[in-house]
Amino acid sequence: MSNTDNKKVSLFSKLRYIFDRKQKGQLVVLAVLILIGGIFETFSVSMMIPVMSGIIDPNAMQDVIDQYSVLRHIVEFFNLGVDAEFAKKLAVAMIVLFLVKNAYQIFLIHRQNTFITRARNDMISRVMREFLNRPYEDYLGADIPTVFRITDSDIPRTFTLMLSLLSLSTELIVSIGLGAVILIMNPMMTVICVTVFILLTIFNTKLLKPRLNKIGRENQETQSRIAKWRLQAIYGLKDVKVLNRQDFFIRNYYESGKVGADLARDYAVMNNIPRILIETMFVTVILVYILYSMLTKGNPKDVFVQMGAIGLAAVRIMPAVNRINTYLAEIAYNQYSLDFVYNNLTDSMKMDKAMRAERAAIAGPELHLEKEIEIKDITFAYPDAETNIFSGANMIVPKGKSVGIIGPSGAGKSTVVDIILGLLHVQSGEILCDGSNIFSNYDSWLAQIGYIPQTIYMVDESIRENIAFGIDADKIDEDRIWEVMEEAQLADFVRSLPEGLDTKIGDRGVRLSGGQRQRIGIARALYHNPEILVFDEATSALDNETEAAVMEAVNSFHGKKTMIIIAHRLNTIENCDIIYEVKDEKITKTTLEGRNVIH
Ligand code: ADP
Repeated sequence: MSNTDNKKVSLFSKLRYIFDRKQKGQLVVLAVLILIGGIFETFSVSMMIPVMSGIIDPNAMQDVIDQYSVLRHIVEFFNLGVDAEFAKKLAVAMIVLFLVKNAYQIFLIHRQNTFITRARNDMISRVMREFLNRPYEDYLGADIPTVFRITDSDIPRTFTLMLSLLSLSTELIVSIGLGAVILIMNPMMTVICVTVFILLTIFNTKLLKPRLNKIGRENQETQSRIAKWRLQAIYGLKDVKVLNRQDFFIRNYYESGKVGADLARDYAVMNNIPRILIETMFVTVILVYILYSMLTKGNPKDVFVQMGAIGLAAVRIMPAVNRINTYLAEIAYNQYSLDFVYNNLTDSMKMDKAMRAERAAIAGPELHLEKEIEIKDITFAYPDAETNIFSGANMIVPKGKSVGIIGPSGAGKSTVVDIILGLLHVQSGEILCDGSNIFSNYDSWLAQIGYIPQTIYMVDESIRENIAFGIDADKIDEDRIWEVMEEAQLADFVRSLPEGLDTKIGDRGVRLSGGQRQRIGIARALYHNPEILVFDEATSALDNETEAAVMEAVNSFHGKKTMIIIAHRLNTIENCDIIYEVKDEKITKTTLEGRNVIH
């Protein structure tokens, strides 16, 4: 997960990059709707003042109509008399105008939020897919709360930023429109408003924005830390409780939460400063302006004329400027999340492209094991590790044979299995299936493999779904489930359960014995009828008796399937046709002769 700062790439280029074509199309439509809304808003609000003054004083209205030929034509066309009756009609027209305008506003808010929430969900799913497609190596040293942070927090924030941008454009359109209206009504007032606005914007961008950027970044890091303490306490609940270390975890959770709380406070304060400043400046400047006009002109009537423009400024422009500043603050605060999302997407895009190109270069027909799996001259080291686990190691697994792998702890037995599975990528050498690289058609390679690890990962669903794992409930082949349960010697147990296959794992699953879990793992691996079965210390956590029972199931595949079995107890691989020993960066053929097999 890259965190590098891409200062050179502008905010808009980043947004353009992270949205797909369809979303960009929707954004353009939205922009047009916003523009229409802005014009609507400006028109209805600026109509308010002439209409109000017309209702109060029809004579004044007649003067205005005489002044503008357009208005005169309209009045003549509809044959309207400029009188009290007309004023009433105008008032009703204004009510209708405001109703329509506000209905449009709701429509617009609905459209904006439909776009934002759906696009946000699209993006979260896109990133989630990208997570699952990343090379396994990427996760070896990954900080899981940070991995989750992007979907839980950074993407939602990116969309808050987007919503702020959209709202900002609405407010800008309205402010510019109303600015133009008061420019006609009162140029002096416009100069004042614009000056106040510019001063505030300078204050915001120079002083507030860098601080908000920083708080945004710190807050994201703090959120990761908070999430980490929570996860660690819950994952390790048993150890935490038995060692009675609840206080330690709670204290750390509290302390990082406190940092987060202070950051949230700082953000709230800074977010409110522009609003309060604007109000203070506007009220002061306008009152000083009125006082000044009264003192110099001395005629209260002239001052009264100014009130229309001032009212407009106070009622609509000041709040608009206010909101503009709030949106600017929100954009600054959330920019770090946008950078994070952008960097992640660009990184993974590059990686994805490179991996695809690599695989496309060797792409071949589907693989079906006919003869042998060959590990050819592999060299492997874990990312960031100094020593090689393998240097020029070789191994052959003939079809239909059972191959046992032994070796000292930490020698690389699990590593070689992960390499065969294609989870880890060797620095040099190849894994061949009948002479073809497994990555030449990786999906068909995986389709041939059933993998049974030491701990079987259970989802919080029924036994049926845990065996079929990742297949939609309506597509699960019930007969196949029973077949594989017979093969894994699990069927009798499931039949004895009151709810049978529907028994939920999760709450009750915790009560499954180690042997039963392992059998579910075997049944799961068998479900898609793989040619090759890979056991990675699949029985090492079991007691001797259970292990012997599970091994009985495993041994029943002898000669029917190709098996690769890692074992730390030699008796589990007694029946293997070939034994390899992993040691000193090599894999060598050996026998169990002379070794101490304990029964
Ligand atoms: P075995 O299965 O033979 O006990 P492993 O294949 O699990 O051994 O591990 C081989 C060596 O690789 C060990 O020394 C272990 O410390 C190291 N190793 C395992 N996983 C990682 C990792 N993610 N990053 C770095 N080193 C690792």
